[in-house]
Amino acid sequence: MYISTRGNFRKVPASEAIKLGMVPAGGLFVPAETPALSTEEILAMRGSSYQGTAERIISLFLNDFTEEEIKGCIARAYRDDNFDHPQVAPLYRLNEQTFFLELWHGPTAAFKDIALQIMPHFLSLAVGKMGVKREMVILVATSGDTGKAALEGFKNVPGTKIIVFYPYNGVSKIQELQMTTTDGSNTSAIAVRGNFDDCQSAIKDIFADENFNQILAANGYELSSANSINWGRLLPQIVYYFRAYLDLLEQEEIAPGEKINFTVPTGNFGNILAAWYAQRMGLPINKLICASNENKVLTDFFRSGIYDRNREFKQTRSPSMDILISSNLERFLFEITGHDAEKINRWMADLKETGRFEVDPATKEAMDEIMACDYASEEETLSAIKEIYHAAGYIPDTHTAVGYKVYRKYLQRTGDSTKTVIDATASPYKFSGSVLEAIKGSAFIQGKGEFEILEGLSKINPVPLHFGLRDLDKKPVLHRTVCEQKEIREQIKTILGVSNMGRA
Ligand SMILES: *Cc1c(COP(=O)(O)O)cnc(C)c1O
Repeated sequence: MYISTRGNFRKVPASEAIKLGMVPAGGLFVPAETPALSTEEILAMRGSSYQGTAERIISLFLNDFTEEEIKGCIARAYRDDNFDHPQVAPLYRLNEQTFFLELWHGPTAAFKDIALQIMPHFLSLAVGKMGVKREMVILVATSGDTGKAALEGFKNVPGTKIIVFYPYNGVSKIQELQMTTTDGSNTSAIAVRGNFDDCQSAIKDIFADENFNQILAANGYELSSANSINWGRLLPQIVYYFRAYLDLLEQEEIAPGEKINFTVPTGNFGNILAAWYAQRMGLPINKLICASNENKVLTDFFRSGIYDRNREFKQTRSPSMDILISSNLERFLFEITGHDAEKINRWMADLKETGRFEVDPATKEAMDEIMACDYASEEETLSAIKEIYHAAGYIPDTHTAVGYKVYRKYLQRTGDSTKTVIDATASPYKFSGSVLEAIKGSAFIQGKGEFEILEGLSKINPVPLHFGLRDLDKKPVLHRTVCEQKEIREQIKTILGVSNMGRA
C-alpha cells in the first residue's frame, strides 16, 4: 500500500498511486513499507537478465498487479528494438575503481527511457483495474529529456493523450527537435516562455485546481502525470541499481556483500532516490554521491541543512539538472524522518511561502549518513569530458561529466577506495555541441549547425551515432506552439477541445 508524504490521504494500492500520479491535495505517494531483500536473496539474482531482475524487484512493489501483467509490461518495455544493448543498462569500466552505468541505450538516448518505456503500460493497466472510463491526459513539465521520453512512451497508447511543456529556448536544439518531430495521434509538445521551474509549478497548480479538473471530467478527461513524482516512474529505476551491483559481482569486480558507491547527476532527485530505495531494500551501498551543476541548491542543502531556492537560476550545459526545486526530495525527507508528515508539511509550507526551509539536527545527521554531495562548475564539466576522453577514449555527456567531476572531488576529499558506479544519464550525442566544445575547443563548434556538430562528434566517438538521433533533421516539425505560463490551461483546453461551458 502507498501513503502520502503529507499524511493527507488514505492508503492506496499501487495501481491507484500510479493512476493518481501525485496526492490530489499535494504530497507524494511512497510505499507504506519498503520491502527488504536479504543478502542471500540478492545474490540469488546473479545470472538473471535485466528483465529477470526487473521482474523480481518490480513485483515486490506492485502487489495488485499479477505476475503475468508485470512480465508483459517488462517484455514490451525492454525489447531489443527499443534498447540497442542486450543488457539494457550495461557497465563501462573506466578503471579498476570507477564504472559508468550506461542508462542511455533507449529510444531517446537518455536514462528516462528506462522508466518511461514501462510506465505507460503500468498506467494503462492501473486505469483498467480502477474501472476508469475517462481518457487519461498526461501532463508533463520537462527540462528536455523527460519530454521526448514521455512522448515516445505514451505515443499511440490507447486511452491516453500526452501534452508536454518545455522551457522556450531552455533546451538544446536536438532536444527540441526530438520533441517537435514526434508523430502519433495523441501527442502534443508546447514551448513555454519561462524556465523549467515555471513549467513545473504551473503543472502542479493545474493538478491541484479542482475547478479545472471538474471541467475536464465533464468532458470525459482525467489528468495524470508522468513526471518523476509518479511512483510508476521511480520504481523501474530501482532495478538498474540492483542490476549494476549484480553485474559487478558477476564480473568479479566485487565480493558478495561488498559495499559500493553510486554517483548520480541530480536534478529532480528521482534517480538518486531510486538508489536510496535500493539501499533501503538491502543493496550494499556505502555512499550516494549527489552531483549538481552550478544550480547547486542540493549541495548547499546537504552541507547546511538549509534548502534555499532564492537564488539566481543558471542555464548550464547540463540543462536536465537546471532545477531549483527538486520534487522528489520530499519523499527522501519523509523516509529519513521515519514518516514524519508533520515535519514535511511544515517544510513544504515554508518552501512555498519563503522559498526556503531548514531541517532539524537529527534529520541532518540521517542525511549525512548516506549522502555525499558536491557540484561541478561549467569549466570543470568541460574539462572532465576532455580528461576522460584523453585518458580512456570514452566520451561522456555533460551530465555524466558533472557526476564524474563530483566523484573526483569526493575522492580527493575522502580518499574513499570503495568501488564507485557513476550514472551515465545521457548519450553524448544528445549534447554534442558542449561535448565537442570540451574536446576540440569552442572555436571548433563556432558557426557550425547542430547536425554538423553531431556528425563531427560521431567522427571521434568510437560509439556510433545513437539510433534515436539519426535522421532527425529530415523529419517534419509537427508541433510549433509557443505560449506564456499563464496560458497553459487554455492550451490544454484547446488541445482537448474543451470549453468552459461544459461539454465541447
Ligand atoms: C533528468 C536527467 C537528470 C536528472 O535526474 P533526476 O532524476 O531529475 O534527478 C540527469 N541527467 C540527465 C541526462 C537527465 O535527463
